[in-house]
Amino acid sequence: MDEFGLIHQYFARGMLREDVAIGIGDDCAVLSLEVGHELVVSIDTMVAGVHFPHDADPGRIGTRALCTALSDLAAMGAQPHWFTLALTMPTADAGWLSAFSDGLFDIANRYQCSLVGGDTTCGPLCISIQVHGSVPKGRALTRSGARPDDVIFVTGPLGDGAAALAVINKQLTVRTASYDYLQKRFYSPAPRLQAGQLLRNLASATIDLSDGLCADLGKICEASGVGALVDLARIPLSAHWKEQVASDRALQWAVTGGDDYELCFTVPQERLPLLEEWINAGKLQATPIGKVTHKLGIGWLKDGKPRNFAKKGYNHFD
Ligand code: ADP
Ligand code: MG
Repeated sequence: MDEFGLIHQYFARGMLREDVAIGIGDDCAVLSLEVGHELVVSIDTMVAGVHFPHDADPGRIGTRALCTALSDLAAMGAQPHWFTLALTMPTADAGWLSAFSDGLFDIANRYQCSLVGGDTTCGPLCISIQVHGSVPKGRALTRSGARPDDVIFVTGPLGDGAAALAVINKQLTVRTASYDYLQKRFYSPAPRLQAGQLLRNLASATIDLSDGLCADLGKICEASGVGALVDLARIPLSAHWKEQVASDRALQWAVTGGDDYELCFTVPQERLPLLEEWINAGKLQATPIGKVTHKLGIGWLKDGKPRNFAKKGYNHFD
């Protein structure tokens, strides 16, 4: 199988959106953006041995790579349209490619995001995905709009990523249903795209939680020139694992463990009634966990007393 046969067989498939004028097969893709909208772009790279084990299930590499890339579009309030794939692999293994591309297209079709081009090379296994989405002009959510007294929310339970890793590394055992839940949360974390798009009308700042609450809320605070005070008792934890884990470790996972891919966002006081309306109507899932403060840095409260967290999230060059 040569490079072009491989691209044709495994990657020139799946649904094609109407806004794709030219897709895979030419020197570039040609894509049309709705009038009055802006292009929102992000790229993520996953390296074998760094982001996943060399022998990881290829289908799961595919689902996880696209889900986590789409999470960045969710954080900006963007709607996904297209993605490109730069794939480097040591050999063209048909079984691997078939499972990887099945996983990839499962997610692409679910979120209506078309693969419109890429690059295929031989070398150590490495996957880069660039996602493209759009927002109405000037309406992208950012990290920099949080103001003192805004309320801080998260869209779902935290610590699932760390709990899933503990299960994968055989440091934690859970019931079958919980095992399935954690596998799904880890390998195909649902990007909070609908929530992100709704939040364009509401949030002052937004980020997706890839490196853990401590690190990522820290990025909102830094970009906005504010601090935060978080009530640890309010952080939602999943019933799938929290009873099996000592409460201090559970908090550690929720605050410093990454890979949750929920959104963390801030809402000005005057917009809280609208948010509550949406939560009650089931339009949006969100839990308040704290407040934005004038005082810089993040304060963590446990039973009304300050608590510190040492680990600041993953950094490739630490
Ligand atoms: P070029 O040499 O002009 O950069 P290539 O010959 O590498 O283009 O690729 C041929 C076509 O296949 C291009 O349209 C490219 O975008 C697409 N392509 C290459 N690799 C992939 C891939 N892994 N997934 C999807 N499309 C790909
Ligand atoms: Mg070319």
